[in-house]
Amino acid sequence: MTIRVYSDGQVRAPGDATVPVFDRGFLFGDSVYETVGTNRGKPIFLADHMDRLARSAERLFLRLPDRDFIERAVAATLAAVDNAESRIRIIVTRGDGPVDLDPASAGEPRLVVIVQPLGGPSPEMYEKGVQVEIVSVARNSPQALDPAIKSGNYLNNVLAIGEARRRRPTAHEAILCAAHGSVAEGASSNLFAVVGGEIRTPSLQVGILDGVTRGKVVALARGDHMPLREVDFMSPDELRQANEVFLTSSVRNILPVVQVDGITVGDGKPGPMTKRLMALYRQLVEAET
Ligand code: PMP
Repeated sequence: MTIRVYSDGQVRAPGDATVPVFDRGFLFGDSVYETVGTNRGKPIFLADHMDRLARSAERLFLRLPDRDFIERAVAATLAAVDNAESRIRIIVTRGDGPVDLDPASAGEPRLVVIVQPLGGPSPEMYEKGVQVEIVSVARNSPQALDPAIKSGNYLNNVLAIGEARRRRPTAHEAILCAAHGSVAEGASSNLFAVVGGEIRTPSLQVGILDGVTRGKVVALARGDHMPLREVDFMSPDELRQANEVFLTSSVRNILPVVQVDGITVGDGKPGPMTKRLMALYRQLVEAET
């Protein structure tokens, strides 16, 4: 089990990797990032993550190193670990500058790649499902820092997880609602609910991250003729009363939820549609890697 970090042009042990205090990622959260999982040691859907990194950077007018350069750094860092499976965090900051908000005062973008053991949910969590709490912290408005941008500024999500864990220490994830009241997404995951036999997930319109896993799951469900609808509004009560609930993210893949705000979902076990999608997703990941 190893952790390696690409920084300043080299793959290093974590203790040897440093970032200057004048880096704008440190000062302002002025950065973009991606988290990518591996299967059989190969990055899962790396191209989709690189596409989203580019979209996030473009929205922030943040210059990225060349895609090839980033992918070579990822490959070199991944080659330096011996983990069963890893989680890869690709970070690009706007670089160093004076303590001055003006993005034009930044120097060169800074690339950091962290590769560490995957640390995903345990087999028991996939089998039995997890608990989530709907929190009062609202998802950012798309008119402020748009949730579609995967920036390094995650303080809102940090607050959400803090609230969920204070309320229920065993909560796995915090569910945030948009300012207009619709359920939006988890602090680091997208959300699906089965209501009346139909799979529903908040639409991009609600103000969420366009999750790579979410996109694959939507396509898999449609390809398998399962009823699925992206909805512009999902009330907290709809989620609490759903027959099945699950989360998606690159580190979790598909993770069943069996309790929302202390209320048991369905019969308290991962449901049939969730299980079907978990199997389909596993097949897709195997085929892709
Ligand atoms: N929403 C948020 C806020 C996230 O941080 C993440 C994790 N990157 C997700 C959703 C899931 O996205 P993905 O499937 O691309 O990992």
